[in-house]
Amino acid sequence: MRRGRAAHAARRRDAAYRWITLLLAVAFVPVARLVGGPGMARHVACQWALATRFPAEDLDGLTPATRAAFEAARTRALWRHRELLGLTSGHRHAYHQARLFAEAVRRTGSAEVARRRVLPPAESRHVAGTALDVRPAEGARWLERHGGSYGLYRIYDNEWWHFEYRPEGRPARLPHSGVTRPTDTSEMIMTWAR
Ligand SMILES: [Zn+2]
Repeated sequence: MRRGRAAHAARRRDAAYRWITLLLAVAFVPVARLVGGPGMARHVACQWALATRFPAEDLDGLTPATRAAFEAARTRALWRHRELLGLTSGHRHAYHQARLFAEAVRRTGSAEVARRRVLPPAESRHVAGTALDVRPAEGARWLERHGGSYGLYRIYDNEWWHFEYRPEGRPARLPHSGVTRPTDTSEMIMTWAR
């Protein structure tokens, strides 16, 4: 009963966030027109509004095409469908990814199991700047439906939040990242992390 009430409150809060962010975007449009020009006003205004909703996110380090695709997608998500799309994790430095992977290997006791959740740096699209971990879940569902228009696709069954920029077209969906083939460098890190 209490859980039902909490879920109801969370839904109302999320709906309020969506409305507030959209209203902010609308309010930003006149100034955004001065900055971005008439053709880009809505786009710029949406990015500003989303930055106020997700102040901790960091889009730096994404490839320019990945960033442009993500920004275009979330402009449409907000403006047309009142859905929020934030970035939890985009580009990661190789040393950061290596640490995440080594921690996963230690925690799970197995490189094979670790690979299902986190890949070593040489294989990670986060290091390449073409992967995006997004939130919230509703936004991710929106991106699953509409991301193809922007070259953005969900890749793994076990990670609803992980999307990649694949302009060449929809890749085959994989159960988890562990099914990809390890490279020589990742074998080295696995041995080192054990
Ligand atoms: Zn990811």
